[in-house]
Amino acid sequence: MSKSDCIGLISDIHGNLEAFKKVLKEIEEHDCPIFCLGDVVGYGADPNEVIELVIEKNIRCIMGNHDAAAIGKMDTTWFNERARRAIEWTSNELTKKGRNFLESLKKEMRFGDAYMVHGSPMDPISEYVDNSFVAEESLNFVDDIIIIVGHTHVPCSFSERVGKIELERYLHGGTFTIDTRSVLNPGSVGQPRDGNPMASYAILEFSKREFTVFRTYYDIGKASEKILKAGIPKSLAERLFIGL
Ligand code: ZN
Repeated sequence: MSKSDCIGLISDIHGNLEAFKKVLKEIEEHDCPIFCLGDVVGYGADPNEVIELVIEKNIRCIMGNHDAAAIGKMDTTWFNERARRAIEWTSNELTKKGRNFLESLKKEMRFGDAYMVHGSPMDPISEYVDNSFVAEESLNFVDDIIIIVGHTHVPCSFSERVGKIELERYLHGGTFTIDTRSVLNPGSVGQPRDGNPMASYAILEFSKREFTVFRTYYDIGKASEKILKAGIPKSLAERLFIGL
């Protein structure tokens, strides 16, 4: 597999260093450039350490809503209470280097025939592509054949079929063959929300037209303990164990 023929896809790391390190260890074995779909920080206890690693590993990254909120570029009125408290904690914690990195992030990127945004093409930072209607609207909004998003924390694919949009979820991983216009989501590294607490990431192979989601265990106990010690809302530590 040549380097330009595949990409590694990660999203929503959310300051979870333990999950990120484990995913990196596995994804690097594929020897593909890695792209991150945003929300590097927020919720987890290691925002600076995660940013350091993103920079060190040359991961190309776009901005998510938590990244924007952590540097004051987004109003947190629409965040729920615990998310807002985590963002305030993150914002206070950020080093100058971390802040500069988040400020440098763009809202969209392209590679091969893939277009990437955190939210949706219509609203790159905030909108969730979490149903067929938004997926269809997204596919009609840009000319790109493949749209890759994050934000929902649920690994899935929406593909265009005659008269409908087909949704497939990857609770335990799996491969989707891209044979039509599709919206793909690699799921979340640091805070999965589909009921499976295992970290999620994906590999996209351009010539084979295959999008494969992988799930992997990491040290959830350590990540959650750090959240408790930091004084970030307790429920954000607890949810990691159930993947919700
Ligand atoms: Zn997120």
